[in-house]
Amino acid sequence: MRPRSKTRASGSVLLRGLYGPHMLAFLPALCLVAFWGGGEGFLIFSALAVPLIYALAGGFGQASRMAAPPAVPNPPVEDVAREFLSIARHNGQSTACFQVEIDGLSDIAQRFGDAAADEARCLLDARLQSVLRDGDRVFHAPPAQFIVLVAPGYRLRLDALTELATRLRRALDEPLSVAGTSRYVSASIGIASSLNFGRNVTAQRWLASANQALEEAVATGTPSTRVWSDKQVKPNSAQKDLHKAIRAALDSGEFQAVFQPQVGVLSGDVTGMEALARWHHPQKGVIGPAGFLHQMSESGQMDRLGQIMLTQALNALIDWDNAGLTVPAVSVNLSQAELRNPDLPERIGVELDRTGLTAKRLVIEVLETVVAQAGDDIVRRNLVALRELGCRIDLDDFGTGHASITTLQQFPISRVKIDRSFIKDIDRRNDKRRMFAAIMAMTEELTLETIGEGVETLGEHGILQELKCGHAQGFLFAEPGSAVEMSRWLADRQEQRDPARSAVLRRVR
Ligand code: C2E
Ligand code: CA
Ligand code: CA
Repeated sequence: MRPRSKTRASGSVLLRGLYGPHMLAFLPALCLVAFWGGGEGFLIFSALAVPLIYALAGGFGQASRMAAPPAVPNPPVEDVAREFLSIARHNGQSTACFQVEIDGLSDIAQRFGDAAADEARCLLDARLQSVLRDGDRVFHAPPAQFIVLVAPGYRLRLDALTELATRLRRALDEPLSVAGTSRYVSASIGIASSLNFGRNVTAQRWLASANQALEEAVATGTPSTRVWSDKQVKPNSAQKDLHKAIRAALDSGEFQAVFQPQVGVLSGDVTGMEALARWHHPQKGVIGPAGFLHQMSESGQMDRLGQIMLTQALNALIDWDNAGLTVPAVSVNLSQAELRNPDLPERIGVELDRTGLTAKRLVIEVLETVVAQAGDDIVRRNLVALRELGCRIDLDDFGTGHASITTLQQFPISRVKIDRSFIKDIDRRNDKRRMFAAIMAMTEELTLETIGEGVETLGEHGILQELKCGHAQGFLFAEPGSAVEMSRWLADRQEQRDPARSAVLRRVR
């Protein structure tokens, strides 16, 4: 671990004063005095002898050595931690340890080599330094971590520390120019404040606590900050077993997509299919998202599920195309962790290229809660990039996440997906009908499309028709089913609605 100190040894300042090359500036004055005192002979002697004496005394060597001062040996992080704790204790101050995990460095190393990863590490180090104050220390903890020790002070309360973490993460979030390309990384941070411990806390325990907080931040699967507290609970062994089982199930292909159709409210045409995840557990049977999503997110596996769902969704779309079944688009649900992944747009672009499908046939569903909390950060950048690629963005569970109208305008949303809670019994409850009508008026002003979800009855569908909601999804049309089951459902529906075309298709097949 290599610390960077901004202090200078005071001895070197004195040496610099005596031996520095600026001393030669006094030579003309010396020659003048020699000339006045001793005439021309003394003048010539002093002009030649002084630089000679300076050289023999090692002044030039010293000067060049001072121009590149020897690196100050770096004390280990534990020593500095001990020193900071002791100063804080002595002065009645506090200090804090930040452990920072950079997500994306190993990717840079894999793609561009170790030298590029080192270059990225140096850039990140400089960014951390630019946010920190002079006495703070930054240590590298290879391969992808930094440890920041905040110099003891009086005002290091929790809110100041979390604000500092936000500024550090923001500085690290900026694109990195590495090996001639622009790369994004993201950071998770664990914080331990000395205020959380008694006077006799050891440096090791303090550092280990910050590391435990970092582990918790990383386990969320999304770049985040966690502050250590003595109430922090480590995952128990049952939770750890479930995390392990989920990882193994992802490896062995036990996660499968099912699909639920979306239908034009007025036309009755199929306008899309939403992909929903199912775990085909060898012993327990089919498990829905409520039985694994939370644990999957805790163990940082959401990216992997997202990749599996995207691949299966696009493959299903190709199969439906090949079977002559009309499905204009497929929707996938993206978690906050995936949306915080700087590589997301590239990953989706690669997958679209692989399949040869156009981007407008892919809809990205983003929870309103995620967008409402996102602020001006990587989630927005990713959504803008996906929109520019040509994908459409649905704001899922709309009405439950408190997104402001400004947020709706700032994010490149194409359609709001109105939550089932607004639709259930809408044909029998006037308050719900009024609320739905208000949402429709707002979306019309903002030129956003609409889809109502969880439509179960003809009565509910009738009100959606009356209030001019664009699309609908729910058990009224079909429960989620496998790609093959949906092929049958699509063929049956096509047959009912357009028997002539279906007969032609059957002949062709
Ligand atoms: P969601 O995105 O709001 O998906 C709709 C949920 O409502 C689905 O539950 C669907 O089966 C259910 N549903 C559809 N029509 C009706 C209806 O008429 N009545 C009722 N009562 N329910 C209906 P599911 O499949 O259990 O998914 C639950 C949630 O899990 C999803 O809610 C979504 O937030 C999340 N999820 C599912 N798959 C994925 C995935 O691949 N990735 C991520 N990040 N989240 C997923
Ligand atoms: Ca959804
Ligand atoms: Ca929803």
